[in-house]
Amino acid sequence: MKYLSTRGDPTERSFCDILLEGLAPDGGLYLPAHYPQVDAAMLARWRDLPYADLAFEILSLYIDDIPAADLRALCRRTYTAAAFGSDAIVPRVPLEPGLSLLALSNGPTLAFKDIAMQLLGGLFEYELARTGRTLNILGATSGDTGSAAEHAMRGKQGINVFMLSPKGRMSPFQQAQMFSLQDANIHNLVIDGVFDDCQDIVKAVSNDLDFKRTWHIGTVNSINWARLLAQVVYYFAGYFSSGAARVSFAVPSGNFGNICAGHIARMMGLPIDRLVCATNENDVLDEFFRTGRYRPRSSSETHETSSPSMDISKASNFERFVFDLLGRDAARLRRLFEHDLREHGAFELPREDVERIADFGFVSGVSSHADRLATIRDTWGRTQTMVDTHTADGLKVGRALRRADETMIVLETAQPAKFAQTLREALGREPDRPPGFEGIEALPKRCTELAADVHAVKQYLQQHA
Ligand SMILES: *Cc1c(COP(=O)(O)O)cnc(C)c1O
Repeated sequence: MKYLSTRGDPTERSFCDILLEGLAPDGGLYLPAHYPQVDAAMLARWRDLPYADLAFEILSLYIDDIPAADLRALCRRTYTAAAFGSDAIVPRVPLEPGLSLLALSNGPTLAFKDIAMQLLGGLFEYELARTGRTLNILGATSGDTGSAAEHAMRGKQGINVFMLSPKGRMSPFQQAQMFSLQDANIHNLVIDGVFDDCQDIVKAVSNDLDFKRTWHIGTVNSINWARLLAQVVYYFAGYFSSGAARVSFAVPSGNFGNICAGHIARMMGLPIDRLVCATNENDVLDEFFRTGRYRPRSSSETHETSSPSMDISKASNFERFVFDLLGRDAARLRRLFEHDLREHGAFELPREDVERIADFGFVSGVSSHADRLATIRDTWGRTQTMVDTHTADGLKVGRALRRADETMIVLETAQPAKFAQTLREALGREPDRPPGFEGIEALPKRCTELAADVHAVKQYLQQHA
């Protein structure tokens, strides 16, 4: 499989060429040159495979520069009941006729990002060992991504993680998940600033190409192709476990990575009817799917909500879908993303493109704080299933848009224990904590405070890389 950039760079690349990359050199995102197609016979063969072997089958359609035996072994090492809590890895939880949850958040950090990140940890270690290289991962987090990355990379050969987080902005539980790691290759840098300051520092370091090259700086952000690919697998697993002939998925969305994996599964021919994009009060994506107008917000226009992992102003994976929507016309895509966004802060697609959105199965809806509370309360009351705030957004929108005969699977993206404050507000009680997570706030913490200053971060990195 060859990979190309959405902005039209003609260089052909293989999976391992782009594994450690974020953006393509021309500023675009990587996509496979085509989507391998699955047919009924393949689906029948895959239906009863263990999750790890299903992952291998799907990944191997996209990866031809890792020997099959190694890739299979890597999948089997990654997707274990020990790491993900059950043999199913992503068990389905029926809620009511035609509506169920796909439980994606039983990994080490209790969020769905573990599913992709755990695989990425293995892939990175493999590729670095093969090429004799090292990697210093630099990232900014306001919660879930950083901890999933650290838990995936801890103790991995050839890898250091430098994770910036805003001082005092993460929940005590999230802080404990990150700062309690004692592995020497994990560095928690607590920045005296807000999340945007952290992100700006990461960007500034990454834009210093000399520094980046000398110190082998990489990222694990949500635009990484391998992360997206790992997420394609659970759409297949959810489809198989539903037993239905066609299914729809409702996806709590922020950076558009999760639902973009659903788009890829659908493009491969998995019988997905609709992809329901659920947003919170930050409704950039909902506006696009309703109107064809894409208007990224400034950080001052981005609301802080009770589903914080969906508080995005600009959906970093979105360009991948637009590329396919435009029939993979890189020149047109460049005009939108390089010209229109820069000149006007927004772009608007003509009507014929907007009408084609439905051909790709996409619909959307918005959920508010009040919706979240009502959904958490209602779901608990009726089914004794406790959902977190993000999953509640997906559930609210998925239920509202579900048609009478539709099999709707809502992707559960985090455990309620991670968002205790809102769960208390909704239910008047503490959320359940999975075994092993009791009292983690009391564990010894390992982190370093730094000023919101690029040089301070660079210096720290040079001393500890
Ligand atoms: C990251 C995250 C999301 C958003 O997923 P995207 O891939 O960014 O759309 C939703 N819920 C939770 C809990 C998350 O951690």
